[in-house]
Amino acid sequence: MNSDSATAHASGLRPGAGRPRQPYLTARLQGFGTTIFTEMTRLAIEHDAINLGQGFPNFDGPEFVKQAARAAIERGDNQYCRMAGHPELVTAIAEHQERFYGLRYDPMTEVTVFSGATEAIFATLQALCEVGDEVVMFEPYYDSYRASVAMAGATPRYVTLRAPDFGYDRGELERAITQKTRAILLNSPHNPTGKVFSRAELEHIAELARARDLLVITDEVYEHIVFDGEHTPLAGLPGMRERTVLISSSGKSFSFTGWKIGHTCASPELSAAIRCAHQFITFCSATPLQHAVAAAYRAPDDYFTGLTRDYRALRDRLCDGLARVGLDVLRPAGTYFVLTDIRALGFDSDVEFCRMLPQEIGVAAIPPSAFYSQSDDGRHLVRWAFCKTAETIDAALARLQKLTPRGRPAR
Ligand code: PMP
Ligand code: GLN
Repeated sequence: MNSDSATAHASGLRPGAGRPRQPYLTARLQGFGTTIFTEMTRLAIEHDAINLGQGFPNFDGPEFVKQAARAAIERGDNQYCRMAGHPELVTAIAEHQERFYGLRYDPMTEVTVFSGATEAIFATLQALCEVGDEVVMFEPYYDSYRASVAMAGATPRYVTLRAPDFGYDRGELERAITQKTRAILLNSPHNPTGKVFSRAELEHIAELARARDLLVITDEVYEHIVFDGEHTPLAGLPGMRERTVLISSSGKSFSFTGWKIGHTCASPELSAAIRCAHQFITFCSATPLQHAVAAAYRAPDDYFTGLTRDYRALRDRLCDGLARVGLDVLRPAGTYFVLTDIRALGFDSDVEFCRMLPQEIGVAAIPPSAFYSQSDDGRHLVRWAFCKTAETIDAALARLQKLTPRGRPAR
């Protein structure tokens, strides 16, 4: 008996049996496994495949933004900054909201900076949901939503967006709301479908939120990548500013996804609650990058129109190419993702298709069934990212020519 276990005996504690109690992963997180993005990027690297899976640009954002980051580091802006966000960045975000949407937020009390939209979503749910509350979300959903809801001890309720236009059934949304519903989590422009929620849909959601006294958490990270229609923040609808937590991120708008600088805009009371969670999750996000993102949000209008124009060309390039390969393309109105129906080529399992693709064809994509909980609609779909250079997209399309139909088309 070593002295530790002798002490344990003397104190009445059970000596350790060698390994700590199993399982390590709490019940809250069991079933979440490894994200599909990590799994598919790993397969892409293993097989030297062109990665049209995980949504990150294979090019850098603007030089003036990188320069602002370098300058901040050089001048020594490298220590913790204000917990709720550097004054320069929250001011730039407030200006941006007013410039693009006419929404006025007080930078110091209503804008908060996070380590990416992912942390903003997590902190918001931690702050605003009691254990046992319900959160309504549309499926397919961005995968962190379900895990963040689970970690907050809340319960997700799903409403399925149906192909080909990914509309939802109004009755289904109304029935998903119960006495326990605290919030609706809405993502528009929507990953992975590329749907931009229409004004009528936003009005319906707002009407339900007001009538049933719900909060709405809006994930607007693709706000500047819209090709058809326009992005309308729900917070701008009548009576919605006070019950909406608007979330966005610099990652997609400025092509620096690895910087992880995101934000919320919400009333002072909602912001105070969210900040309470944020102060114990990260406290503050990378200071020099906050300076750089402040410069980014102050970019002239032609930066933003250029981003949309460039992504529109990439969307058309990839969509046209995928159609030539024989896939049914569900052309997106926004985001940098496109879904295709793989039944056109006789495949009927997105997961099998995406596990085969890197090794046999040399391209990686994402199986959307990872983003569904109640419907198996994702089984026939595959998500491709076009936040890649034209050369990369062409090289992937050339490889995809090898894709031959499997069996008889399933419909
Ligand atoms: N929401 C959606 C819909 C996304 O696609 C992503 C991106 N990856 C995020 C949130 C996370 O954004 P961030 O990288 O800023 O955490
Ligand atoms: N948002 C990115 C996508 O949808 C990936 C983010 C991540 O890897 N967690 O592809």
